[in-house]
Amino acid sequence: MGNYFSNIFAGIGTALVGMKITLKHLFGHKVTMQYPDKYNPIRDGGLPDFTRNRLFVDMDLCIGCMICQRNCPVNCIEIETIKVSKDDPEYLKPNGEKRALWVNKFNIDFAKCMFCNLCTEECPTNAIYMTKEFEYSTYDRKNLYYKFSVMTPEQIESKKRIIEEEKAKKAAAAKAAEVKSTETKNE
Ligand code: SF4
Ligand code: SF4
Repeated sequence: MGNYFSNIFAGIGTALVGMKITLKHLFGHKVTMQYPDKYNPIRDGGLPDFTRNRLFVDMDLCIGCMICQRNCPVNCIEIETIKVSKDDPEYLKPNGEKRALWVNKFNIDFAKCMFCNLCTEECPTNAIYMTKEFEYSTYDRKNLYYKFSVMTPEQIESKKRIIEEEKAKKAAAAKAAEVKSTETKNE
């Protein structure tokens, strides 16, 4: 019988200890935030190296070198390029530099990305970088597949055609030179 009442008192004591902790946190300083209604603002200025946010690619800066694609440990970057022909009216950039490649495809699958930053670290033009955006969860995984290239299908076709024409011209010139050389030898 004594054990019965001591268990009851122990239970009441434990409940009181629990209530004391609850009341302390109820009226004390709040250490949690009601995310997503509230959250700490992201600080201004450069992001720290350990930032794990959404990537962005500035296609005006990207030169299509594919270093980021090779560095990605999970292969979530897909890049395709087209060589720029010297006959291309846009062979020179507005600043006078020669253009080497058109980047006709630059896709990142954020469903696979593990935000390791390896793609941003060695980009020679700082075209790919982490933004301040960290809220991009979605109900549809397809929405995590981002396409950064701004080239239209018509532009891609046109650039491919120009480089193919240049190749054909070079091949014809090489063939003509070969024929001429054979004729000279036979004379
Ligand atoms: S490393 Fe930079 S410049 Fe090279 S393909 Fe990637 S984003 Fe473009
Ligand atoms: S952050 Fe890492 S995983 Fe994500 S695209 Fe860049 S290299 Fe790939």
